[in-house]
Amino acid sequence: MPYTSAPTVLVAVGDELLSGHTQDTNSRLLATRLFEAGHPVRRIEVVADDETAIAAAIARALAEDGVRSVVVSGGIGPTPDDRTFAAVALAVGRPLELNPVAIAHIEGLVQRMHQAGWVETAEVSEANRRAAMVPAGATVLTNRRGMSPGLAIDTGAGQTVFVLPGIPRELSTILEEEMLPAYFGGGEVPSVLELRYQAVPEAEMDGPMRAVAGEFSDVSVGSYPQTDRRELVIRFRGRDPARVQEAAARFGTLRPDGPAERVVREGTSSSRQG
Ligand code: AMP
Ligand code: MG
Repeated sequence: MPYTSAPTVLVAVGDELLSGHTQDTNSRLLATRLFEAGHPVRRIEVVADDETAIAAAIARALAEDGVRSVVVSGGIGPTPDDRTFAAVALAVGRPLELNPVAIAHIEGLVQRMHQAGWVETAEVSEANRRAAMVPAGATVLTNRRGMSPGLAIDTGAGQTVFVLPGIPRELSTILEEEMLPAYFGGGEVPSVLELRYQAVPEAEMDGPMRAVAGEFSDVSVGSYPQTDRRELVIRFRGRDPARVQEAAARFGTLRPDGPAERVVREGTSSSRQG
């Protein structure tokens, strides 16, 4: 199978996601960026703002075969419905404690907010202080855009639990600046290539897809109808760019009525053996 190395599980936390008030764009961003970094997501679970439910989801993910990272997002902040830190502490079996890096960041931010005249006092409130109460031994991932820290927690068993705030611009900044560079380097960047067919019934692709899947076990082939523009996208993914190209070319011989191929992403592992 093409993508089984260092898999990641995402746990998105929030009642608002389950009720449909908020779309889970954070998981989409995380899935996109981790896939591009060569560390594809295996599973996404969405849970309520409930300590037991969050802890259970993390425990499930950590117990899964081969999972190296669990990324928990949302449910972090100064209000009583933010229960993620407590749930993570429960899941990894560590107490919550005041983190010196996190509290220093919060103090600095409150000070600047006070100087700018946004808040009356430079004192850190009890509610803000709670954002610095994190599971013991956590590494803080600096949140340049907000109060709540990102966290990386080494479980000691070769797995890392990441915790990110739900606010999309805070999550994306921590992801790009702290998480990806420090923890998700060295992945084999996958190749993605698409063939786009106009107004073709999807069932007609069954035979060619089976044939190519049989001949190219290292390339995955998916069919994605885009009904709004009457287009059928056949997407090829794999580690080796040459093999992905060959698979698409083979498909093109079986269904020669498609337009030119479109390289979505050229992988970096063309020199890889095997
Ligand atoms: P929270 O960290 O849960 O307090 O969320 C802070 C803000 O980010 C809220 O407005 C949430 O609705 C939003 N948010 C939380 N999780 C997500 C998500 N998975 N996708 C998009 N927005 C989210
Ligand atoms: Mg929330």
